[in-house]
Amino acid sequence: MRATHTRAAILGQARGAVAIATVHLGEPGVGEVLLRMEACGICHSDLFVCGLEKLPLAPVTLGHEGIGRVAAVGAGVTEWSVGDRAGVTFLGTTCGKCEWCAAGRERFCPRQTNFGYTLQGVLGEYAMAPASALVRVPEEIAAAVAAPLCCAGWTAYGALREAGLQAGQSVALFGYGGLGHLALQMARHQGLRVAVSDPSEEKMAAAREAGAEGEARNADAAIVLTAAKAAIPQAFKALRRNGTLILVGLAMTSYELPLVDTVLKGITIRGSYLGSRADLAAVFGLAREGVVRPQVQMHGLDEVPGLLEQLSAGKIAGRAVIGF
Ligand SMILES: [Zn+2]
Ligand SMILES: [Zn+2]
Repeated sequence: MRATHTRAAILGQARGAVAIATVHLGEPGVGEVLLRMEACGICHSDLFVCGLEKLPLAPVTLGHEGIGRVAAVGAGVTEWSVGDRAGVTFLGTTCGKCEWCAAGRERFCPRQTNFGYTLQGVLGEYAMAPASALVRVPEEIAAAVAAPLCCAGWTAYGALREAGLQAGQSVALFGYGGLGHLALQMARHQGLRVAVSDPSEEKMAAAREAGAEGEARNADAAIVLTAAKAAIPQAFKALRRNGTLILVGLAMTSYELPLVDTVLKGITIRGSYLGSRADLAAVFGLAREGVVRPQVQMHGLDEVPGLLEQLSAGKIAGRAVIGF
């Protein structure tokens, strides 16, 4: 029997409570695929959506780092068949025509849609998705491991690549959560010297155990992976001359730029959002080689509201992933 309804984690209205409820999915339409979800991680961007003053889509099912199996395909879908394994990222559909799409930088397409934001997300037992937005996921990677790679892993890898460092150089990572712990593994694999900064003593101890060294200072690049505003001036101060500040964590806030230091030290400041298609393939490759090993805690769907609160309080070690 084909699922036309599903239980899912729903945000009913802007700044409302997240609840587990049954929602209608219907049949896959033209270009759509019905997925039976295996796993979906909980990301800080889910919290960001929960905190927005206005929602483009409400009620909205949360979730944008999921692994599922194709359960049914709609008309016109030729690339995907029932039983195929598919990954969902934050990036939904793109226009395919603009200069960013043409340059392989689809994530900057001004007409993109996003799962769990402008498209219904995948934090549910079943989910409907545009086939063009799905990515192939190697069968050898367990769903619980692959799910966090679709957002946290991809974003961490993309940010490190934007930093443009060579082996032997140093990077300071600000925030040791879902992204930070994966960024540390990747940076060490690239031969970088890595320092980590996080207000949680427990997380700092975990980072040291995973190979973080020294203090976050005099770094060639500093990457702000947290949404905590206080991290940005700290990261700026941790840079050496000609260093690069990479901003990743999303928050509705602003930061006052220290102009004199930016100019006289020749500092580069860049935003980094997700990564390229090649980056995601590279992340899956690193997971297959055992280089990238997400630290995952598995939970049930009913635990999502409580897990979002814990995430907001900085109390989740590694990544919380919902198994279905
Ligand atoms: Zn995310
Ligand atoms: Zn485009």
